[in-house]
Amino acid sequence: MGDSSMTMIEADGLSKYYGSFMAIKDISFSIPKGQIVAFLGPNGAGKSTTMKILSGFLAASKGKAVIAGLDVRDERLEAVKKLGYLPENGPLYNDMTPMELLRFFGEVRGYKNHKLDERIDYVTDLCALQQVLEKPISKLSRGYRQRVGLAQALLHDPEVLIMDEPTAGLDPNQIRDFRTNISKLGEAKTILISTHILQEVEAVAQRVLLINEGRLVFDGSMTELKQDGSIEKAFYNLTGYGKERSVHNEEGGEV
Ligand code: ADP
Repeated sequence: MGDSSMTMIEADGLSKYYGSFMAIKDISFSIPKGQIVAFLGPNGAGKSTTMKILSGFLAASKGKAVIAGLDVRDERLEAVKKLGYLPENGPLYNDMTPMELLRFFGEVRGYKNHKLDERIDYVTDLCALQQVLEKPISKLSRGYRQRVGLAQALLHDPEVLIMDEPTAGLDPNQIRDFRTNISKLGEAKTILISTHILQEVEAVAQRVLLINEGRLVFDGSMTELKQDGSIEKAFYNLTGYGKERSVHNEEGGEV
């Protein structure tokens, strides 16, 4: 298959203004095939904005987003074939059951008959959805909704996965299962995953991008990030939280 040095996700000078408010400024990075990258930053730093632009759901004010060599604006249809995107709050279409949702998206993706069933079986298994396939998505727990979102994102076996806070609201067991899945998937795919749970990063990612107030303030390996001690310390130093605020754990002991 392809060259492992091929760039699969590229942000080239991305900026986004919401009105006159600058949400992200001149963000550039490129992620080669097969890498799992954690996208970190405080709430409001610009992670979701960047991920929406990379996924083609939001237009950049400046710069270019490229997935597997395809410009997400100019070659959108081709680019989305290569991409699975898990939005921050999981899937929409709350009135559908997971089965209906997966059928619907499978058909949209061009699968039929036996092949469609096979893909649905595969993602249902991978995301452990068997027990809830016939329940309306609106009645599912947050953990299950996230898994439905992940199943939808993986349905067409995309080479690139972009996931926005996939473990938010999951319990520790669900988080552990999720990590196992990501590590498995990472063997074949290129993954960008945003989180503000720092421990999670160490468990899954080889590389870290850290964004603060719309700017990329760190791009390097976990080892480099931890050079001066812990990952928590690096995060506080790079985001300025360590200076005047008292240290707090945003997760409040939830995980
Ligand atoms: P993160 O995902 O890191 O929490 P976001 O990308 O969601 O950050 O938000 C970055 C900044 O842009 C925040 O200050 C947020 O309030 C602002 N923002 C996000 N979406 C919009 C929008 N649709 N209109 C105006 N401001 C927005």
